[in-house]
Amino acid sequence: MVFKNLNIIEPILKAINAKGYSTPTPIQEQSIPILLKRKDLLGCAQTGTGKTAAFAIPILQHIYLDKQPNKGRRKIKALIVTPTRELAIQIADSFTDYGKFTGIKNTVVFGGVKQNPQTFALRQGVDILVATPGRLLDLMQQGYISLKDVEYFVLDEADHMLDMGFIHDIKKIVAKLPSQRQSLFFSATMPPDIIKLSGKILGTPEKVTINPEQATAERVHQSVYFVSKRAKSKLLIYLLKSDTYSSTLVFSRTKHGADKIVKLLKRASINAEAIHGNKSQGARQRALGNFKNGDTNVLVATDIAARGIDVSELALVVNYDLPNIAETYVHRIGRTARASASGIAISFCDVEEKAYLRDIQKLIDQQIPVVEEHPFIDDGTEEPNKPSRPPKKATQQSRYKKKGNSYQKHRRSDTRNKTNKQS
Ligand code: AMP
Repeated sequence: MVFKNLNIIEPILKAINAKGYSTPTPIQEQSIPILLKRKDLLGCAQTGTGKTAAFAIPILQHIYLDKQPNKGRRKIKALIVTPTRELAIQIADSFTDYGKFTGIKNTVVFGGVKQNPQTFALRQGVDILVATPGRLLDLMQQGYISLKDVEYFVLDEADHMLDMGFIHDIKKIVAKLPSQRQSLFFSATMPPDIIKLSGKILGTPEKVTINPEQATAERVHQSVYFVSKRAKSKLLIYLLKSDTYSSTLVFSRTKHGADKIVKLLKRASINAEAIHGNKSQGARQRALGNFKNGDTNVLVATDIAARGIDVSELALVVNYDLPNIAETYVHRIGRTARASASGIAISFCDVEEKAYLRDIQKLIDQQIPVVEEHPFIDDGTEEPNKPSRPPKKATQQSRYKKKGNSYQKHRRSDTRNKTNKQS
C-alpha cells in the first residue's frame, strides 16, 4: 500500500513525500478512506501509531477541496482538542508539515503562557485550530474564538482528557459546535465512560482499532533488570556510561523522583534534564528543545509530561520505575518505536514491582527477557519500605567504586543465581 492509493491529493502527497514517509501506517490505511468519505470515526489508537496524519491528511484535503473563493477573514473550519500542550504543539506542527503546499493555515492555543501571541494569530484568521480545553474555553469566553463555522472536530486522547478532569470542559466545547459536522474521537483505551462520551459526540461512527500492545511490544527490543530500589540510580549510571545511546528517555513515577534522578546523573557527569508538571511551560519547552537538538542526552520524565514527546531518533527508553498500569508500559516503550521504527526499552524492577511486571507481561502476552548478568542484581535483602541508609555511610557498592570502579568483579554470584529468577 502506498499513500497514492488512498486518493490523497497531489499537494498533500508532495508534503508526505517530503516527510520521507513511504507507506501508510495501519491506522492511516484504515482511517483515511473512512474520513475522506466524511464519516465519523471512533479510533482506538494511541500516540505513536501515526494517528495525527490519519486525521490531519483528510481534514486538510477537505478544507483544500471545499475552499471558497477567499472573501474576508479565514474562519475556523477544523478544531482539534487534545489534553496537553506538548501534544497540541506537535499536532499543529504536523498540520503545518502535511499542509505546507495547500495554503491552509493553522494555529495552536494552550494554557500556562501569555495569551497575546495566541490572540494575535487568531486575529489574523486561521482554518485549523489545535487547542487544549482550558485555554480554548477561556479564549471563547473572551470572544477571540467562535466555533460556529467548525465542520471538522477531533477529540484526541479522550481517556487522558477524562483522567485529567476535562470532562466538563469537553461538554461545554461540544455544546458550542454546529450539529452538522464530521467528528473524530480517539482514545487509547475504551472503558465505559469513554464509550458514553463518544456517543455524545459522534453520529454513527465507523470504528478503527489498532492493537497497540501487541504491535508496539513486538517492535521494541525489551529487557528487565532485577535491582533493588536503592541501586537503581547506580545501575542507570552504569548502563548510560557503558553504551553510547544518543538519546535516552527515563521514566520516573514521581516528579520528585525525576528531579532526584537528574541530580544523581549530573553528579556522574551525565547531561540530563527533567520534564514534569511542576516545571514552567518555558522550562519544559527548553528541556525538550535541548533534548531534540542533542544538547541533552537524557530526559527524565513523568508519564503525563512525556505524552506527546515526539523524538524520532529516540534510542532508548528506561523504565526507572515500573508503572502500576500495564498500558502505561506500552505507551512508554512506544516512544522508542515510533510508527515503523524499532527501539530499545530497559526496565528496572525492584521487589515491590514484581506484580506490575506480571501484569505487563500478561498484557503484552510476552515474557520480557531478564538480564541475568549485571553488577547490581537485587540480592533480596532490601525489605519493602525499609528506610534507606543515612547518606554519609558508604554502601557496599560505593566502597567498591572507591576501590577501582569494578562492580562486576565484586558481584555476589552466590545470591545472583538465587534471586534472579523471574517470579
Ligand atoms: P503520531 O502517532 O501521530 O504521534 O505519529 C508518530 C510518529 O510517526 C511521528 O513522528 C510521525 O512523524 C511518524 N509517522 C506518521 N506516519 C508515518 C508514516 N506513514 N511513515 C513513517 N513515519 C510516520
